[in-house]
Formats: sequence, C-alpha cells, structure tokens
Amino acid sequence: MKEKIRRFMAGRYGNDALNQFLSVGSIACFFIALLSRLGLFYWLGLAILLYMYFRMLSRNIPARTAENYKFYTMKGNVASWWHGKRAQWDSRKVYRYFTCPKCHQKMRVPRGRGRIQISCPRCGTQFIKKS
Ligand SMILES: [Zn+2]
Repeated sequence: MKEKIRRFMAGRYGNDALNQFLSVGSIACFFIALLSRLGLFYWLGLAILLYMYFRMLSRNIPARTAENYKFYTMKGNVASWWHGKRAQWDSRKVYRYFTCPKCHQKMRVPRGRGRIQISCPRCGTQFIKKS
C-alpha cells in the first residue's frame, strides 16, 4: 500500500507551506460553517480543500513552486506591515506619525514640541503640524 502511494506521488508536487496554510484555512471555513450555519463557508472550505489537493497532485512543479514563492512574499509583506503597526502603537506616547501629503511617505516626530514644520525626507515637501 505504501509503495502504491509512493508510486502514485512520484513526479507530483506534494506538500508545501502554501498547502499547509490552505488546509488550515479550509478547516477554519468548515468550522465557521458549522458554527454560523452559513452554507457559503462550507463551499468556500470545500473549494480551498480541492485547490489544495489539486496543488498536491499537480505535475506542473515549476508553477506550484512559483505559487509557493508568491505566498512567502505575501506572508512576509503582511508580517512586516503588522510589525510596523505594532511598533507605531507601542511608541504612540513618544512619537506622532504623519504621512507626507505629496508622496505619502510615513514619518514620525517627537510629541509635545508644539506646532512644527515637518519636511519630508523623501521629496522635501514642507508642511506644518502640531506635534
Ligand atoms: Zn514626501
């Protein structure tokens, strides 16, 4: 039996981090469907599960590897965004955060300095804000 499975999986993509994420996502959808009795989440969970099996059994390994790579990039972006938001929240009593009106560059200034002129380090636009 084990040998049969091994022969079946030969040349197929198998498992990766994106598939692990998808399996957790489908379980979460089934769980929400169970609790809320919304059929939509059942079908969503089923679709995610089918996509996961499609990826696992796929013979197009370069395409699946590219998907996994994209997943890692997105995961990294979400993690760094979250990290930035947390740092901003933790230092909210020390710094005020502003966004440049021209180029949308984010910057921080120390609190409690009254009305100050801020110049954007990226594009040089100057604007006045209360710190
Ligand atoms: Zn700017």
